[in-house]
Amino acid sequence: MPLNIYNTLSKKVEEFKPINGKKIGFYMCGPTVNNYTHIGHARTYIIWDLVARYLSFLGYEVRLVSNITDIAIDDKILKEIKKLNKSFFELTTNYMIAYFDDRKKLGLKEPDVNCLATQHVNEMINLIQKLLDKGYAYKAEDGIYFNISKFKDYGKLSGIKPKELKEGASNRIKSEEYDKDSAADFVLWKNKKGDEPYWYSPFGLGRPGWHIECSAMSMNYLGETFDIHSGGEDNMFPHHENEIAQSEAATGKLFAKYWLHSKHVLMNGEKMSKSVGNFITIRDAVDKYGSLNLRFFFLNTHYRKTIDFSEKELNNTNAKLDKIISAYEFLINAKGKDDSKELIKKLQEFKINFESAVNDDFNTSLAITHWIAFCKEIQSFNDLSKASAKAIMEYFSRISKVFFGDLAIKKEDKINNKLSTGLIESLINLRNKARTEKNFKLSDSIRQELEKNGIIINDSKDSTTWSY
Ligand SMILES: [Zn+2]
Repeated sequence: MPLNIYNTLSKKVEEFKPINGKKIGFYMCGPTVNNYTHIGHARTYIIWDLVARYLSFLGYEVRLVSNITDIAIDDKILKEIKKLNKSFFELTTNYMIAYFDDRKKLGLKEPDVNCLATQHVNEMINLIQKLLDKGYAYKAEDGIYFNISKFKDYGKLSGIKPKELKEGASNRIKSEEYDKDSAADFVLWKNKKGDEPYWYSPFGLGRPGWHIECSAMSMNYLGETFDIHSGGEDNMFPHHENEIAQSEAATGKLFAKYWLHSKHVLMNGEKMSKSVGNFITIRDAVDKYGSLNLRFFFLNTHYRKTIDFSEKELNNTNAKLDKIISAYEFLINAKGKDDSKELIKKLQEFKINFESAVNDDFNTSLAITHWIAFCKEIQSFNDLSKASAKAIMEYFSRISKVFFGDLAIKKEDKINNKLSTGLIESLINLRNKARTEKNFKLSDSIRQELEKNGIIINDSKDSTTWSY
C-alpha cells in the first residue's frame, strides 16, 4: 500500500519516494517567538507531528528539524520589544519556554533539532555570500537583496510570478511579509539601523532577513536536498517561494522534494486576528477544551481543508472521542471467554481501511470514521476474551501514538480530572469493605462521591468494575 502525498510543488498527489531509502529529512517552519502560539499554529504543529509519527509507523527513520525565529532577526520581535520595553533575551526566552510548554500540552514529539536563528547567523552569511558571488544577489543602499529576475524558476511553488522583472528600488521589498501583488526582489541582509541589534559580516554590520534563515538552517541539518518541507499555507508565499529561490540558486540543486501545506483555521467562520480579538492561544484552548479533544478536533478534518474552530464542532468531536475512549475501556475490562475469530478478522479489515485512509494524503478524517465504526463493532462482542482484546489494544496503541502523540487516551485527561487510578481503586476497596460489613450508609456515600468525579461503579456478582 503506497503512501501518496499531495505535493504543492507539482500540485499533484504523488507516490512518496524518499531520496535516501528509509531515511527521511523533514523540515518544518517553526514559530517566531514574539508572542504565545495560537490555535492556528496548533493545527500545523499537530498535522506535521502526525505526518512524522506516521512515517515512523511505516518504518521510516525520520529526522525532524524545526527553526525558532528568535532575537531580533524578525521585524515583529523588534516592534514587540519596543512596545513592552523588555530586553530581547527576556522576551524571546519567555516565549520560547511557553512554546515548548505548549508543544508538551499538545503531546507533540520534540523535533530532533530545534535550531535557533541567532545561533546560525554565520551559516546565513555564508549563503548570502554565495548568492553574491554567483550574481543572484546585489547590494543596495539599505542592505543586500535577492534578484528574482535571475532565478528563472521563481514562482514555481506558489504560481505567483512578478509582473515586471526589473532590478531597481521600485522592485524591492523591505518588509518580510508582503502580499501576492508585490513579488519583487526581497531582502537577505539588512544594514544596521538605529539601536537595532546587529552582527558583523563581510558586508558590514546588520542582521539577516527572515527567509534566508530557513534555507540556511534546513540545509545545514538536512543537506542541500531533503525530502519534506512543511508549513501553513500562509508560508507558501513569499516565505517558501523565497526559500526555494535562495537555496536552489546557491546550490544548483533541488531544495525540497515534497512541499506540504496545511490550510488555515477560522474562528466561528471568520479569519482569526488579534485586532478583532477572536484569537485563542494554545494554552487557553487546552485549559478550556482539553489537550486530547483539541488534538482530535484538528485531525478530524483533512489538513488541506479550512477548519472552523467553534464550540459546537468541538462538542461534536468530543462525542466522537468518547466513542473511542469507551471502546478502550471495554477492551481493558474484557474478561470473557470468546476468542472471537470474527472480530480478529474485522481487525485485519480495519487495519487495511485505516491505513489506506492515512496513506491517501493523510486523510485523518476518513481514518477516524473507520476507527469509530470499528469501536462500535467491538462493543457488540459481549463475552470478548482477554487475549482478543489484547490483540486489538496492541494495534490501537500504535495508531493512538500516531494520532494522539504523547497524550494518554483517558477520559480523566480529557476532563482534567485529578483523581488518580490508585485513589479510585482504594475508595472502591473501602466501599467493598463497608458493603461486606453491611455499612450501606458509608458504601452509598463513597459511590456518590465517586459519581461527583465522573466515576461510575458497576457491581456484578463477584466483582466491582468502574469506568468514567
Ligand atoms: Zn521557515
